[in-house]
Amino acid sequence: MKINAEWHKKNKMPKNPTEEQRIKWHIAHAKNCACWPIPKKLQEIIDKKYPS
Ligand SMILES: [Zn+2]
Repeated sequence: MKINAEWHKKNKMPKNPTEEQRIKWHIAHAKNCACWPIPKKLQEIIDKKYPS
């Protein structure tokens, strides 16, 4: 597991994130850090909302 501590310091997850905030956080997180994969359920939502 690789943790990008620097990124985490600068990008805290909001305390009560909306779905939108969670998605944005996870997308940014996945690009910068690998400590925590995107949860499957959230990935499904991302796939539907942001088809690439
Ligand atoms: Zn991380």
